[in-house]
Amino acid sequence: MDFEDKSLQCSDCGATFTFSAEEQEFFQTKGYTNEPKRCPACREARKAQRYGNSGSGYRSPRQMFPAVCAECGKETEVPFEPREGRPVYCSDCYRKINLSR
Ligand SMILES: [Zn+2]
Ligand SMILES: [Zn+2]
Repeated sequence: MDFEDKSLQCSDCGATFTFSAEEQEFFQTKGYTNEPKRCPACREARKAQRYGNSGSGYRSPRQMFPAVCAECGKETEVPFEPREGRPVYCSDCYRKINLSR
């Protein structure tokens, strides 16, 4: 099946954007049946909001991320997204490390 570039309108900002043949093919291989509703800029903006790296305000305070404690190897949850190269500690080790300072 051949794909052709399509023009779609963003439901957020109303801008016209291209849903390229490549993207359509990608969508099909992923099994997505819906066309994208938002332009790439709005999609990025929403993604940034969801992961809370756009600053404060949007992130729900309850959201926890799974992590592995760098000290004891126990599985834990932290209220921020763990970054590579940045150690994450479980609450016990975190307390221990803070006390030993
Ligand atoms: Zn948009
Ligand atoms: Zn630990």
